[in-house]
Amino acid sequence: MADDFGEEVRELLRQITPQRSNELNILTEGVTFRKDENEDGIGFYASSNLKLVRVTMRCQARLWAHCYAYYCMFTEYAVRQSGADSGLSSDQLQVAGDFLEWAVESDIQIRLQGGSGIPVVMKDAPKDAPLPFENINANVVQVGSETIFLNALAFIIHHELAHIQLGHVGVESDLSIQQEYDADATAAEWILGVDVADEFDYLVRHLGVAIALLWFTSLAFREKFVIDSHPPSWKRLLAALEPTVKGEEDAVWGFVVLALTLHFHRYGLSLDTLSEVTHTRATVVEMVETIEQFNAGLGKESE
Ligand SMILES: [Zn+2]
Repeated sequence: MADDFGEEVRELLRQITPQRSNELNILTEGVTFRKDENEDGIGFYASSNLKLVRVTMRCQARLWAHCYAYYCMFTEYAVRQSGADSGLSSDQLQVAGDFLEWAVESDIQIRLQGGSGIPVVMKDAPKDAPLPFENINANVVQVGSETIFLNALAFIIHHELAHIQLGHVGVESDLSIQQEYDADATAAEWILGVDVADEFDYLVRHLGVAIALLWFTSLAFREKFVIDSHPPSWKRLLAALEPTVKGEEDAVWGFVVLALTLHFHRYGLSLDTLSEVTHTRATVVEMVETIEQFNAGLGKESE
Protein backbone atom coordinates (compact mmCIF):
# COMPACT_ATOMS: atom_id res chain seq x y z
CA MET A 1 0.00 0.00 0.00
CA ALA A 2 1.29 3.44 -0.83
CA ASP A 3 2.36 5.42 2.17
CA ASP A 4 0.86 8.79 1.23
CA PHE A 5 1.91 10.61 4.35
CA GLY A 6 5.49 9.35 4.13
CA GLU A 7 5.62 10.59 0.55
CA GLU A 8 4.27 13.99 1.66
CA VAL A 9 6.99 14.32 4.29
CA ARG A 10 9.72 13.28 1.86
CA GLU A 11 8.41 15.82 -0.64
CA LEU A 12 8.61 18.58 1.97
CA LEU A 13 12.20 17.67 2.83
CA ARG A 14 13.14 17.52 -0.86
CA GLN A 15 11.58 20.91 -1.43
CA ILE A 16 13.71 22.45 1.33
CA THR A 17 16.99 20.87 0.20
CA PRO A 18 16.63 19.78 -3.44
CA GLN A 19 20.45 19.74 -3.58
CA ARG A 20 20.37 16.74 -1.27
CA SER A 21 17.73 14.65 -2.95
CA ASN A 22 19.88 11.50 -3.11
CA GLU A 23 21.09 11.84 0.47
CA LEU A 24 17.48 12.27 1.53
CA ASN A 25 16.50 9.02 -0.10
CA ILE A 26 19.18 7.24 1.90
CA LEU A 27 18.32 9.10 5.11
CA THR A 28 14.62 8.26 4.94
CA GLU A 29 15.00 4.75 3.54
CA GLY A 30 12.81 2.38 5.51
CA VAL A 31 11.57 5.14 7.82
CA THR A 32 7.86 5.22 8.59
CA PHE A 33 6.33 8.64 9.17
CA ARG A 34 3.23 8.45 11.30
CA LYS A 35 0.72 11.25 11.06
CA ASP A 36 -0.86 12.00 14.43
CA GLU A 37 -3.98 14.13 14.23
CA ASN A 38 -5.22 13.51 17.77
CA GLU A 39 -2.37 14.70 19.95
CA ASP A 40 -2.67 18.37 20.99
CA GLY A 41 0.82 18.83 22.39
CA ILE A 42 4.14 19.29 20.62
CA GLY A 43 4.61 15.56 20.33
CA PHE A 44 7.17 14.98 17.60
CA TYR A 45 9.02 11.81 18.39
CA ALA A 46 11.40 9.25 16.88
CA SER A 47 12.08 5.62 17.60
CA SER A 48 15.41 4.33 16.33
CA ASN A 49 14.41 0.73 16.93
CA LEU A 50 11.18 1.02 14.94
CA LYS A 51 12.60 3.54 12.44
CA LEU A 52 9.50 5.55 13.11
CA VAL A 53 8.91 9.30 13.21
CA ARG A 54 5.70 10.63 14.68
CA VAL A 55 4.56 13.96 13.24
CA THR A 56 1.94 15.71 15.33
CA MET A 57 -0.35 17.82 13.17
CA ARG A 58 -2.44 19.96 15.51
CA CYS A 59 0.47 21.76 17.14
CA GLN A 60 1.57 23.01 13.72
CA ALA A 61 -1.08 25.72 13.86
CA ARG A 62 0.89 27.21 16.75
CA LEU A 63 4.18 26.93 14.89
CA TRP A 64 2.53 28.79 12.03
CA ALA A 65 1.36 31.52 14.42
CA HIS A 66 4.93 32.04 15.65
CA CYS A 67 6.22 32.21 12.05
CA TYR A 68 3.60 34.71 10.99
CA ALA A 69 3.83 36.96 14.05
CA TYR A 70 7.62 37.20 14.16
CA TYR A 71 7.90 37.71 10.43
CA CYS A 72 5.35 40.55 10.57
CA MET A 73 7.45 42.23 13.25
CA PHE A 74 10.63 41.65 11.31
CA THR A 75 9.16 43.06 8.09
CA GLU A 76 7.84 46.09 9.90
CA TYR A 77 11.22 46.70 11.48
CA ALA A 78 13.05 46.30 8.16
CA VAL A 79 10.67 48.74 6.43
CA ARG A 80 11.18 51.36 9.13
CA GLN A 81 14.96 50.88 9.06
CA SER A 82 14.89 51.59 5.35
CA GLY A 83 13.44 54.98 6.18
CA ALA A 84 9.98 54.31 4.82
CA ASP A 85 6.82 54.77 6.82
CA SER A 86 5.24 51.87 8.56
CA GLY A 87 4.95 48.84 6.27
CA LEU A 88 2.08 47.07 7.99
CA SER A 89 -1.10 48.58 9.33
CA SER A 90 -1.62 48.67 13.08
CA ASP A 91 -4.52 46.27 12.53
CA GLN A 92 -2.18 43.76 10.90
CA LEU A 93 0.31 44.07 13.74
CA GLN A 94 -2.48 43.70 16.27
CA VAL A 95 -3.67 40.49 14.58
CA ALA A 96 -0.10 39.15 14.56
CA GLY A 97 0.32 39.91 18.27
CA ASP A 98 -3.02 38.32 19.18
CA PHE A 99 -2.18 35.28 17.11
CA LEU A 100 1.16 34.83 18.88
CA GLU A 101 -0.50 35.22 22.26
CA TRP A 102 -3.09 32.63 21.31
CA ALA A 103 -0.32 30.19 20.34
CA VAL A 104 1.64 30.60 23.57
CA GLU A 105 -1.47 30.42 25.75
CA SER A 106 -2.65 27.28 23.95
CA ASP A 107 0.69 25.53 24.37
CA ILE A 108 0.80 26.41 28.07
CA GLN A 109 -2.75 25.26 28.63
CA ILE A 110 -2.10 21.94 26.89
CA ARG A 111 0.99 21.36 29.01
CA LEU A 112 -0.79 22.23 32.23
CA GLN A 113 -3.64 19.88 31.44
CA GLY A 114 -1.49 17.20 29.86
CA GLY A 115 -1.93 13.87 31.55
CA SER A 116 -4.69 15.18 33.81
CA GLY A 117 -7.27 13.16 31.90
CA ILE A 118 -9.39 16.26 31.36
CA PRO A 119 -9.97 16.92 27.67
CA VAL A 120 -8.11 20.06 26.61
CA VAL A 121 -10.50 22.78 25.56
CA MET A 122 -8.56 25.27 23.53
CA LYS A 123 -9.62 28.69 22.46
CA ASP A 124 -10.10 29.20 18.76
CA ALA A 125 -7.44 31.22 16.99
CA PRO A 126 -8.33 34.91 16.62
CA LYS A 127 -10.87 35.24 13.84
CA ASP A 128 -8.68 37.40 11.60
CA ALA A 129 -5.65 35.15 11.96
CA PRO A 130 -4.29 34.11 8.56
CA LEU A 131 -4.25 30.51 7.44
CA PRO A 132 -1.20 29.23 5.61
CA PHE A 133 -1.32 28.08 1.98
CA GLU A 134 -4.94 29.06 1.36
CA ASN A 135 -4.80 32.59 0.09
CA ILE A 136 -4.13 32.84 -3.62
CA ASN A 137 -3.61 36.59 -3.28
CA ALA A 138 -1.08 36.14 -0.52
CA ASN A 139 1.09 39.18 0.19
CA VAL A 140 4.85 39.10 0.69
CA VAL A 141 4.58 38.74 4.45
CA GLN A 142 2.29 35.76 4.11
CA VAL A 143 4.48 34.07 1.50
CA GLY A 144 7.64 34.73 3.52
CA SER A 145 5.98 33.32 6.64
CA GLU A 146 4.95 30.20 4.74
CA THR A 147 8.47 29.61 3.48
CA ILE A 148 9.82 30.02 7.01
CA PHE A 149 7.16 27.68 8.37
CA LEU A 150 8.21 24.93 5.92
CA ASN A 151 11.84 25.36 6.93
CA ALA A 152 10.91 25.22 10.61
CA LEU A 153 8.87 22.08 10.14
CA ALA A 154 11.64 20.48 8.06
CA PHE A 155 14.13 21.28 10.85
CA ILE A 156 11.91 19.56 13.43
CA ILE A 157 11.47 16.48 11.24
CA HIS A 158 15.20 16.38 10.49
CA HIS A 159 15.83 16.53 14.23
CA GLU A 160 13.78 13.35 14.64
CA LEU A 161 15.44 11.69 11.64
CA ALA A 162 18.83 12.54 13.15
CA HIS A 163 17.94 10.54 16.26
CA ILE A 164 17.38 7.52 14.01
CA GLN A 165 20.43 8.17 11.85
CA LEU A 166 22.64 8.52 14.94
CA GLY A 167 21.09 5.44 16.49
CA HIS A 168 19.90 7.25 19.62
CA VAL A 169 18.02 5.23 22.18
CA GLY A 170 16.69 6.18 25.61
CA VAL A 171 19.57 7.14 27.92
CA GLU A 172 20.07 8.99 31.20
CA SER A 173 20.05 12.76 31.55
CA ASP A 174 23.54 13.97 30.56
CA LEU A 175 23.82 11.60 27.64
CA SER A 176 20.30 12.40 26.57
CA ILE A 177 21.02 16.12 26.62
CA GLN A 178 24.06 15.55 24.41
CA GLN A 179 21.92 13.49 22.03
CA GLU A 180 19.49 16.39 21.70
CA TYR A 181 22.30 18.84 20.89
CA ASP A 182 23.67 16.36 18.35
CA ALA A 183 20.26 15.90 16.72
CA ASP A 184 19.81 19.69 16.53
CA ALA A 185 23.26 20.13 15.01
CA THR A 186 22.64 17.42 12.42
CA ALA A 187 19.22 18.84 11.53
CA ALA A 188 20.57 22.40 11.30
CA GLU A 189 23.39 21.22 9.06
CA TRP A 190 20.87 19.61 6.68
CA ILE A 191 19.05 22.86 6.16
CA LEU A 192 21.73 25.48 6.71
CA GLY A 193 24.75 23.65 5.33
CA VAL A 194 23.68 23.85 1.68
CA ASP A 195 24.70 26.43 -0.90
CA VAL A 196 22.03 29.08 -0.88
CA ALA A 197 20.56 30.80 -3.89
CA ASP A 198 20.60 34.31 -2.44
CA GLU A 199 20.31 36.38 0.71
CA PHE A 200 16.60 35.76 1.09
CA ASP A 201 17.15 32.01 0.88
CA TYR A 202 19.89 32.26 3.53
CA LEU A 203 17.56 34.29 5.73
CA VAL A 204 14.40 32.15 5.53
CA ARG A 205 16.34 28.96 6.24
CA HIS A 206 17.88 30.47 9.34
CA LEU A 207 14.61 32.00 10.47
CA GLY A 208 12.95 28.60 10.10
CA VAL A 209 15.48 26.92 12.38
CA ALA A 210 15.37 29.88 14.76
CA ILE A 211 11.58 29.85 15.02
CA ALA A 212 11.34 26.13 15.71
CA LEU A 213 13.50 26.75 18.78
CA LEU A 214 11.88 30.11 19.61
CA TRP A 215 8.58 28.25 19.71
CA PHE A 216 9.91 26.01 22.48
CA THR A 217 11.68 28.95 24.13
CA SER A 218 8.43 30.93 24.31
CA LEU A 219 7.20 28.44 26.92
CA ALA A 220 10.21 29.22 29.14
CA PHE A 221 8.60 32.53 30.12
CA ARG A 222 5.74 30.68 31.73
CA GLU A 223 6.91 27.27 32.75
CA LYS A 224 9.90 26.38 34.89
CA PHE A 225 12.32 24.29 32.93
CA VAL A 226 13.06 21.02 34.67
CA ILE A 227 16.29 19.47 33.48
CA ASP A 228 15.76 15.89 32.47
CA SER A 229 16.13 14.69 28.92
CA HIS A 230 16.44 17.93 26.93
CA PRO A 231 18.74 20.93 27.12
CA PRO A 232 17.00 24.25 27.81
CA SER A 233 15.39 25.48 24.60
CA TRP A 234 17.13 28.87 24.81
CA LYS A 235 20.52 27.15 24.75
CA ARG A 236 19.44 24.99 21.85
CA LEU A 237 18.47 28.15 19.96
CA LEU A 238 21.93 29.65 20.29
CA ALA A 239 23.76 26.38 19.63
CA ALA A 240 21.81 25.63 16.43
CA LEU A 241 22.44 29.04 14.87
CA GLU A 242 26.03 29.72 15.83
CA PRO A 243 27.82 27.46 13.32
CA THR A 244 26.36 29.10 10.21
CA VAL A 245 25.23 32.62 11.07
CA LYS A 246 27.74 35.00 9.54
CA GLY A 247 29.16 37.33 12.14
CA GLU A 248 27.98 39.47 15.02
CA GLU A 249 25.60 41.71 13.13
CA ASP A 250 23.84 39.24 10.90
CA ALA A 251 20.14 39.91 10.25
CA VAL A 252 19.39 36.50 11.79
CA TRP A 253 20.53 37.75 15.20
CA GLY A 254 18.45 40.87 14.69
CA PHE A 255 15.44 38.71 14.00
CA VAL A 256 15.97 36.66 17.17
CA VAL A 257 16.33 39.86 19.21
CA LEU A 258 13.05 41.21 17.81
CA ALA A 259 11.20 37.95 18.41
CA LEU A 260 12.45 37.65 21.99
CA THR A 261 11.69 41.33 22.60
CA LEU A 262 7.99 40.59 22.09
CA HIS A 263 8.14 38.14 24.98
CA PHE A 264 10.39 40.37 27.10
CA HIS A 265 7.83 43.17 26.84
CA ARG A 266 5.03 40.90 27.79
CA TYR A 267 6.73 39.61 30.91
CA GLY A 268 8.35 42.90 31.91
CA LEU A 269 11.92 41.74 31.38
CA SER A 270 14.68 44.17 30.54
CA LEU A 271 18.36 43.94 29.75
CA ASP A 272 19.96 46.04 32.43
CA THR A 273 23.55 45.04 31.87
CA LEU A 274 23.51 46.25 28.29
CA SER A 275 23.79 49.98 27.73
CA GLU A 276 22.13 49.63 24.37
CA VAL A 277 19.99 46.90 22.85
CA THR A 278 21.64 46.18 19.53
CA HIS A 279 20.47 43.67 16.97
CA THR A 280 23.57 41.55 17.35
CA ARG A 281 24.73 38.22 18.64
CA ALA A 282 25.88 39.88 21.87
CA THR A 283 22.30 40.92 22.60
CA VAL A 284 21.00 37.43 21.85
CA VAL A 285 23.53 35.98 24.31
CA GLU A 286 22.46 38.53 26.92
CA MET A 287 18.78 37.77 26.32
CA VAL A 288 19.40 34.03 26.60
CA GLU A 289 21.12 34.56 29.96
CA THR A 290 18.23 36.73 31.12
CA ILE A 291 15.73 34.03 30.14
CA GLU A 292 17.74 31.48 32.08
CA GLN A 293 17.64 33.62 35.24
CA PHE A 294 13.98 34.49 34.78
CA ASN A 295 13.09 30.85 34.25
CA ALA A 296 15.02 29.77 37.33
CA GLY A 297 12.89 32.18 39.36
CA LEU A 298 9.56 30.77 38.15
CA GLY A 299 7.44 28.63 40.44
CA LYS A 300 7.69 24.93 40.05
CA GLU A 301 5.85 23.38 37.18
CA SER A 302 2.41 22.26 38.31
CA GLU A 303 2.02 18.58 37.80
ZN1 LIG B 1 15.08 15.08 20.20
